[in-house]
Amino acid sequence: MSRSFGIDTTPMPFVDLAAQRRRLGAKIDDAILRIIERGDFIMGVEVARLEEQLAAFCGAKKAVACANGTDALGLALMALKLRPGEAVLCPSFTFAATAEVVAWFGAVPVFVDVRPDTYNMDPASLEAGIATAAELGLRPVGVIPVDLFGQPADYEKLLPIAEANGLWVLCDAAQSFGATHIIGKVGTIGVATAVSFFPAKPLGCYGDGGVILTDDDELAATMRSLSVHGQGADKYDNVRAGMNSRLDTIQAAILLEKLTIFQDEIEARDRVAARYTASLSDLVSTPSVLSGCRSAWAQYTVRVPSDRRAETMQFLKDRGIPSAIYYPKPLHRQEAYGSYPVARTGLPITEALAGDVLSLPMHPYLELEAQDRIVEAMRAALSRLAA
Ligand SMILES: *Cc1c(COP(=O)(O)O)cnc(C)c1O
Repeated sequence: MSRSFGIDTTPMPFVDLAAQRRRLGAKIDDAILRIIERGDFIMGVEVARLEEQLAAFCGAKKAVACANGTDALGLALMALKLRPGEAVLCPSFTFAATAEVVAWFGAVPVFVDVRPDTYNMDPASLEAGIATAAELGLRPVGVIPVDLFGQPADYEKLLPIAEANGLWVLCDAAQSFGATHIIGKVGTIGVATAVSFFPAKPLGCYGDGGVILTDDDELAATMRSLSVHGQGADKYDNVRAGMNSRLDTIQAAILLEKLTIFQDEIEARDRVAARYTASLSDLVSTPSVLSGCRSAWAQYTVRVPSDRRAETMQFLKDRGIPSAIYYPKPLHRQEAYGSYPVARTGLPITEALAGDVLSLPMHPYLELEAQDRIVEAMRAALSRLAA
């Protein structure tokens, strides 16, 4: 243990994958070895088994595994036949992939603002963004709400707006598999839901992985075909131009093991989040969860005074506590996406959040003592800095 003036400064991880490994024991190693010995690295039985279990877990009719969360979004857009010049509404306060996939098709991402309390798409800004797209002569066809940091977007408000405007809703649930919205579990909302199994997501594999969930059989069949070069009834029958986006058998086998403890991990994350909120909400702005919803807590993100953020992070770091900024630069400020339109009412909340959000260590194995250290350090940093 490292100490400085009686304070424990032992470095702690931001996400503790080692603790999960200890819990699962040799099960994952055995599963990997089994596939190495069998040799069916592509489309082994574990892939279909995982798809069945993922669909059952959330209550979706179909699951189509693929290579990563970005492809999950892209495959859905391909199946939805997104065309050049069409507009898709999405937040700017998100990971780049959300808008990137729209640009793949020569379509136009139109950026909308988020709510200051949930960090998720603001329904009023969605309406402004739809109007902006129309003013620019673009044809809005869909919305990609993001379930940022694990919390489902405000679908009760977003779905009726999309429906009234004839837009499909593709959920970017890269961070939120395992979460629940009052209208249903993540995976059962909108036309389709894209999930990522990147290692740091709530359900992560040992590399890249993703899945698309949908209740639409035809859409699922199209996405499955697209994920293997537009394959038809036969392996060498190509009925559409697709891509190569399969989930490796080894990753599926790893996810099958992790899925057995996933519900328990979500509950552990929820306890960590509740404790953070109880001990920090008088000090900083803590995340709000919509009533009747449950977040998967991919991140626990607070807002600190923007002029204090760098010092706070350094103060935590000196005490062995990692923290991170998701996201320091919103997409409409990025070189790649800065020329795309934003909703006519602007993105003031997005701008503010980029300057003041701070994510704290969050994982199901965060022990009480470690959490107390984090809370104490946050209190010390902000009271000292406020003085
Ligand atoms: C991680 C992430 C993605 C992309 O997932 P990958 O598996 O890394 O391709 C897309 N959208 C959001 C919001 C993400 O956080």
